[in-house]
Amino acid sequence: MLAAMPDSAPSPLSVGGPSPRDGGDACPGTLRLHRADDGALARVRVPGGVLSADRADALLAVAGRFGDGELHLTSRGNVQLRGLDAECGGGPAELLGAAGLLPSAAHERARNIVASPLAGLDGSPSVGGWLSELDGLVCGSADAAALSGRFLFALDSGRGDVDALGADVTLIAEGDGCLLRVGAADEVFRLRAADGPRAALLAAEAFLRAARDSGAWRVKDLPDDVRAALVRAIGAAAGPAVHHPRPAAPKVPVPGLVTAPDHSTTATVTATAPVTVTVTAITVGVPLGRLAPAQWRLLTETARRYGNELRLTPWRGVIVPGPFGPSELSDHSGSSGHSGPASEALDTLAAAGLITGPDSPWTGVGACIGHPGCAKSLSDVRAEAGAAVGPVGRLPVYWSGCERRCGHPHGEWIDVVVTPDGHRISHVRGEHRDPRAAVRDNPAELAAAVAAARA
Ligand code: SF4
Repeated sequence: MLAAMPDSAPSPLSVGGPSPRDGGDACPGTLRLHRADDGALARVRVPGGVLSADRADALLAVAGRFGDGELHLTSRGNVQLRGLDAECGGGPAELLGAAGLLPSAAHERARNIVASPLAGLDGSPSVGGWLSELDGLVCGSADAAALSGRFLFALDSGRGDVDALGADVTLIAEGDGCLLRVGAADEVFRLRAADGPRAALLAAEAFLRAARDSGAWRVKDLPDDVRAALVRAIGAAAGPAVHHPRPAAPKVPVPGLVTAPDHSTTATVTATAPVTVTVTAITVGVPLGRLAPAQWRLLTETARRYGNELRLTPWRGVIVPGPFGPSELSDHSGSSGHSGPASEALDTLAAAGLITGPDSPWTGVGACIGHPGCAKSLSDVRAEAGAAVGPVGRLPVYWSGCERRCGHPHGEWIDVVVTPDGHRISHVRGEHRDPRAAVRDNPAELAAAVAAARA
């Protein structure tokens, strides 16, 4: 869980328009809302996606009192509140600030930190210490307040999950130490684990100095020679260089129960001899990243009963860490193959409409907000994605209402974008895009083409 951060009073809430500090960075936050077609939108930064049950309650209260009541998960493990009344004043900020979700008004949009959501639960080391320290360092740095809302830190436990998300500064746990990556560079720098958070902050501050002339928002936007010089300079101050290419695709947590690795990998299961295993967490997916109040409440209540924590993932899922006590693993019990408290909780979450297994047709299906929430959208892509849900695909699919493709996945995926000429389907792998089909005004043909592309 996040440690308490230095308090500073929230500034008055505003909707739209340039702020003197951000010079055109239109990324929404909690204090600076975005005007959408379905009302104002607030994006609440949740570093590492880590929320205590109390903070989850506060988000629900704000969504219910000022917005459409729903909690929308983002591709960075943050929460968006939609349908806010533009005249709601400082009400949301006051409630969120009281819950500790707004530790520094000046840094509220700079606290962009993703972290391996299963760190410490799947056998990989915890990154909670890094998370608290880096968040505190960012909030304590006057320079870091100038980072744009697009700049991203990633803390990878060594699983290679958030390292694949294209962050600007990434720390990767490795044995007793860690690796520091700047942008997408294949060359990383080895340093002591304890030095990681400070090195990450220094790298971000060095980026800001390097970006002064170009006005770049992110490391990848820097001119090539400036970026190369930045990486060299950071490396000289950090530690020895190591060749460690970024993973091509993130290792996304699979919905279901997470078991302690020793048990899950060595247990032999027979119909007559169930094996006792330790369940460390429950992982669920959220269809299209949208949680109704009852679903959010159920997740929060489950968290409160066990580890008192929720972790929002950058893949629009939620992890409920345990401990859950022992669980019996057999091939003839419950839908998950487990029996015990975690299995019962998982079944309850499934009944509430959440994705609790890899065989759900919703697994891997994503969409931007589309019409009617976004004025740029050429159609209601959420409804279209839902209508096209079918057999589980090998590849994730993401539906976008226009070419901006807000919140699209990374790695290898199927892109469905609406154009004035109909829906265009492409296979994306990193920077490569391979057109697959174009479909106009034919939902059945569209669903079949998407299924074929995902297979
Ligand atoms: S991808 Fe286009 S339609 Fe979808 S939310 Fe972004 S701007 Fe709106």
